[in-house]
Amino acid sequence: MMFNAMTERDDIDVPALKARLIERRDELRRLVESSAESRAPVELDQSRVGRLSRMDALQAQAMSVETQRRRQIELGRIDAALGRISAGEFGFCVTCDEPIGKVRLRLDPSAPQCIDCAQAGPGR
Ligand SMILES: [Zn+2]
Repeated sequence: MMFNAMTERDDIDVPALKARLIERRDELRRLVESSAESRAPVELDQSRVGRLSRMDALQAQAMSVETQRRRQIELGRIDAALGRISAGEFGFCVTCDEPIGKVRLRLDPSAPQCIDCAQAGPGR
């Protein structure tokens, strides 16, 4: 990583990617905020909510929890990517230190790994 800090990439538009990361982070934060209330415990009072609609509500809640979980993971990836930008390490695979493909970064500026390491999966 010390080496990478001195060899920032000039083949990718880091400020533009950074702007996209910040925009996406702010959007995710808004989504997390706005859907917080939909994660409130499901009303179990059967006199008020029929059995079928209660199941719908439980299912919707489970999906909401999963969506929120994915958003938190994405937020973590974005924060990490912004950290790498600050450190001058952006654009290099966190696993093997090789440059991450330009197209890959354009599709997902928060990608922490090169395509080879990503396909090899975690914990190799
Ligand atoms: Zn790699």
